[in-house]
Amino acid sequence: MRTCVGCRARAPRAQLLRLVNDDGRLAVDARAVAPGRGAWIHPDPTCLELAERRRVFGRALRVSGPLDAAPVRQWLDSFQGRSPARADRSRAGAGKTDCEGG
Ligand SMILES: [Zn+2]
Repeated sequence: MRTCVGCRARAPRAQLLRLVNDDGRLAVDARAVAPGRGAWIHPDPTCLELAERRRVFGRALRVSGPLDAAPVRQWLDSFQGRSPARADRSRAGAGKTDCEGG
């Protein structure tokens, strides 16, 4: 069990995302294999926001300066968009192009 640095709830590590310090930026360690310290968080923008607001990443990862969480935000965006969305193809008709040859 790990504690989410955002909402402070405990969860199995399989349900949490591991974040590491990548030269001053937060990086997602999706496979949880990166060496060094890691911060665990739900793959949820709400938890990321909470953690950012409370500046827990610096403590968790032992970094004195601010950490850029933008990469994590981007990762979460694509993560949440991964659900299989049905392609909406309402316009299945073939488009006709008028070609006036002269
Ligand atoms: Zn959380």
